[in-house]
Amino acid sequence: MTKINTKEQIVKTFLALGTVNNIQIFNAKKEYAVEKAIDRVIELDDMLSAFKSDSEISRISRNSGIGFQKVHEDTYQLIRKAVLFSEISNGAFDITIRPLVKLWGINKKGDFVPFDFEIEETLELVNFNDIKFDSKTKSIALKKAGQSLDLGGIAKGFAADEVKRILKKEGIKSALINLGGNIVTIGKRPDGKPWQIGIQNPLAPTGEYLGVLTVTDKTIVTSGSNERFFIKDGVRYHHIIDPRTGKPSGSSLLSVTVICDCSADADALTTAIFILGMEKGLPLLKQCNAEAIFVNEDLTVCVTPGIMDKFEFKSMTQEVENEEQ
Ligand code: ADP
Ligand code: MG
Repeated sequence: MTKINTKEQIVKTFLALGTVNNIQIFNAKKEYAVEKAIDRVIELDDMLSAFKSDSEISRISRNSGIGFQKVHEDTYQLIRKAVLFSEISNGAFDITIRPLVKLWGINKKGDFVPFDFEIEETLELVNFNDIKFDSKTKSIALKKAGQSLDLGGIAKGFAADEVKRILKKEGIKSALINLGGNIVTIGKRPDGKPWQIGIQNPLAPTGEYLGVLTVTDKTIVTSGSNERFFIKDGVRYHHIIDPRTGKPSGSSLLSVTVICDCSADADALTTAIFILGMEKGLPLLKQCNAEAIFVNEDLTVCVTPGIMDKFEFKSMTQEVENEEQ
């Protein structure tokens, strides 16, 4: 879908990476630049998807326990980065999580909860140390048969960084990129003011904001348990799996939003910190020069010092009309 209006705004919405994506550019009649960026996102989806049998990721997984697969430089570097985030998060972020994601089948198998023995068996296959790199041939292998990769916690961020790179190269000075909730801003708004980004209230329907963040040239990424989940016997099961237990993480957070310069970093950080919790997450943020907004289970909201004056808190819960009646 394309929309062009008189204020030289080009807006395109498209499906890729298993989600709805949106690119808006301002004050530049460069529809071709947006097209180029969209082509790149689709190319990355084809390369990095765990659901497409021809993707490089699927080829690595199919060859688990057999041998190395040569991959594109970008895939190689992204998997290296993913492993780096495994190392700094003590294994909370782990792209070998795929067998567990498949076992749980969140949003695919209804309210299915696996047996403990199945979880334990599957956990044997989850270990980022089993990803082997050959830097000379740019090849990757998985040590054990049955292991498989899932870049769902980092690929959207990397794709968003790529969109930014392409648009900037084409001379675009003002843009808003949203790849399934991974937001990247370029420059300032067309009126010269900084961007104002609404941060989703994890307890309210999509589009109801917890507060507004004022930024220029930043990425904003949120992970939460409110998007893909089911509830069984009063327990909420969601799509971020703790590799230490093999179960959806029993996080003390309802959501975490990370603000920094690199969207791939922010994406991996949100997934890792959602599992680790706020306290263990803070050193990770520091290491990556990132800021964050935490929504805790007790409904308190915490903001790191670097963005304190840029975040305007609105409301935590949905307003209830005529409460007294
Ligand atoms: P979303 O994709 O909803 O924006 P995240 O960025 O937090 O949310 O990524 C969650 C996805 O990452 C899951 O759907 C799954 O594909 C994958 N994943 C789940 N648990 C982990 C984990 N511990 N480490 C890395 N990736 C994970
Ligand atoms: Mg993520």
